[in-house]
Amino acid sequence: MSCSLCRLPYTPSTISVAPRWPPPGVLSEKQILYLKHAFGAGQYVVGLALEMVNMGLSSTQCSLQPRPDQPSDNNNFAVNNAAIVVNIVWETNSKTLLTFHLHCATILRHQLGLPDDSPVNLIELSLLEQIVGPTMDRLHAGRLPDFNYEGVLGAADQSRIDIESLWSKEGDSRPDFDWLEWQRRGLDWTAVRPDVFPRFRPQVAPTRISSLGALPESAEDIITIQPLDVLHVLLPYLDNRSFVNLLSTCRTLRHQALTIFQPHSRKRVLELGWAVPTDVEYAEFVKRNPPPPVATSPTTPTSPTEHKAGEAESGEESTSIQPWTDELDFSLVAMSHPKHSPFDADWFLYLSQVHRTQAMRCRRWVWALAKELTRIYHDKRAAGPYGDVLEGDGGRTKSPAWKRHAQTASQQLMIRGILLSTRKGEKNMSW
Ligand SMILES: [Zn+2]
Repeated sequence: MSCSLCRLPYTPSTISVAPRWPPPGVLSEKQILYLKHAFGAGQYVVGLALEMVNMGLSSTQCSLQPRPDQPSDNNNFAVNNAAIVVNIVWETNSKTLLTFHLHCATILRHQLGLPDDSPVNLIELSLLEQIVGPTMDRLHAGRLPDFNYEGVLGAADQSRIDIESLWSKEGDSRPDFDWLEWQRRGLDWTAVRPDVFPRFRPQVAPTRISSLGALPESAEDIITIQPLDVLHVLLPYLDNRSFVNLLSTCRTLRHQALTIFQPHSRKRVLELGWAVPTDVEYAEFVKRNPPPPVATSPTTPTSPTEHKAGEAESGEESTSIQPWTDELDFSLVAMSHPKHSPFDADWFLYLSQVHRTQAMRCRRWVWALAKELTRIYHDKRAAGPYGDVLEGDGGRTKSPAWKRHAQTASQQLMIRGILLSTRKGEKNMSW
């Protein structure tokens, strides 16, 4: 089974029957644990739109206790965190459910403008398969048609990211993924969690400035003798690499990069789009690392470690976006935010780091995939029966087909509520 956004497989879970594990050492234990999770949505997903886990059972196995003598064909998910065990078949009748790794889903849902679990968002998400699908079958099971996955980072050969060609198939078996070839081609970074952000420093570390030492009293090079106004005009014309390189060339410019030019770096970080967390990711981080109250803020950021928006094992229900409160000092959150993070935070350091880590490399790619799928979704939705109907006064209403779908989907939403409800004192089943 594979993700319809990044095309990488779901890893098996420990209770899979005859699981197909990646060769030892190819993925870390954390990656194996994390990549078994999926978010699925659609009319055939019991509960409409929810988190699932790869169970690796065959489509003929519906019993709760799979029999070891039955072969697995890696075609089932179980609903995660549900009050009862529910298996969902991935591929039937030559098409698959639309499923995504959790981080792929978060980024895609952000792009689609459907980030939280409101009923209308879940109904719209369940329409995705009908608008952009159905998926392809056999060797390309899970792949969406009309989607140039490989070219999202550019048409040039060196920009092509080809995961698809690593799937192969023998006889009647399900496609298998060639992890060793994936590794040999240097594609390891595509399975790094793209929601692990470089540490963001809301204040420039004093040592970063003091380590520059005394600034030279006079300079002779052509750049540093320019009035600041000229530099302010020049900087926006540079690409990010040249910008970081130029401001790293001498002590005077480094000092300016860490002080008065921070807003330039900030603008660049925000323009990248993928370099800052989505609202959902930010809210998850803040939930785990609450900032101090406004009045008693310490002078150091809230968290000294790496900034993972999601949980490694992701056993929790998805977080809804939190309303911000004025009582907490969000300017000290150690994660970048367009409104909350100070203008003079260390955006320069952050800008140079987001271009260096594997996680951010992966994020830029998943972001581009999500953007392209969103474009396809908007085009196809507008042209098909689910597109909004334009009213005479310029307003928009849902189409009759959308409303019919919403009626059916509302029953599934009820089932979703039952599945995810918890009985007092009992814990739902997570895998
Ligand atoms: Zn994925």
